[in-house]
Amino acid sequence: MEAVPYDKRNGKIWFNGQVIDWKDAKLHVLTHGLHYGSCVFEGERVYNGEIFKLREHTDRLIYSAHRMGFKIPYTADEIDTACNEIIKIQKVKNGYVRPVAWRGSEMMAISAQKNTIHFAIATWEWGSYFDPKIKENGIALNISKWKKPAPDTIPWDTKAAGLYMINTLSKHEAEKDGFNDSMMLDSDGYVAEATGANVFFIDENKKEIHTPIPDCFLDGITRRTIMEIAKDKGFNIIERKMNLDELNNFDACFLTGTAAEVTPVSQIGDYKFKVTPTIGELFDKYLEIVNRT
Ligand code: PMP
Repeated sequence: MEAVPYDKRNGKIWFNGQVIDWKDAKLHVLTHGLHYGSCVFEGERVYNGEIFKLREHTDRLIYSAHRMGFKIPYTADEIDTACNEIIKIQKVKNGYVRPVAWRGSEMMAISAQKNTIHFAIATWEWGSYFDPKIKENGIALNISKWKKPAPDTIPWDTKAAGLYMINTLSKHEAEKDGFNDSMMLDSDGYVAEATGANVFFIDENKKEIHTPIPDCFLDGITRRTIMEIAKDKGFNIIERKMNLDELNNFDACFLTGTAAEVTPVSQIGDYKFKVTPTIGELFDKYLEIVNRT
């Protein structure tokens, strides 16, 4: 069955301070956020009717806007209240929340100093990001030809729309070649992250988990949660620069992200990984925590 397109669904969307019909949540074609990427957003998950780490997401959203040089015209408390209001109206029990802020259309040029900042929140019931059947045996990643921009070239520590241009290019190229996702390297050629998730590598014998330092990509909220869980389980977490050619030294690999949750990886290019029980144990604990809050 074809999924209903996102602009054709029923329900309500929180839009500039009002709850409006889903189908009416529209923008003008001359919107700065669309043409020049002056747009920031969040991705949050609802578990058992509660948004996991909502305030952390809201703080990151406000920070992303600040880094892009604009201010969302709502406080963190107001944003949290609005997110909670719209999940109740939509009756979302286990789903996704997408707050988004963008520059409007008063000025249509690179400079947009006077543009109104708009803010909307949409939410819907949602399951697994990757197909559960594929996820079980680990997903396959190619290695992207697109590098993450160097940290002095873009506000890299944000969820800004413009940063996703190369991620979509990478993911499309991966899918065209039969992969599920793409591993992106940084501008020096070190392992960075997948197109919408952070990456970890497990050395089962040494009880070590290695992960790249988030110095040119998002330090995910899920990433930090999983690092805490893994530490509690007695793993030594090592954040460092990681080369592709050392990936053979690891038994297992997994991705973390709000959407991806904990997703085992079976392959990155020619590097192969097993789906070890550790990944399942970390995911089980993660599910226990997210469902408790
Ligand atoms: N990197 C990118 C590019 C992402 O889109 C995401 C998802 N927000 C992440 C990492 C993981 O972040 P989080 O765990 O906060 O969802």
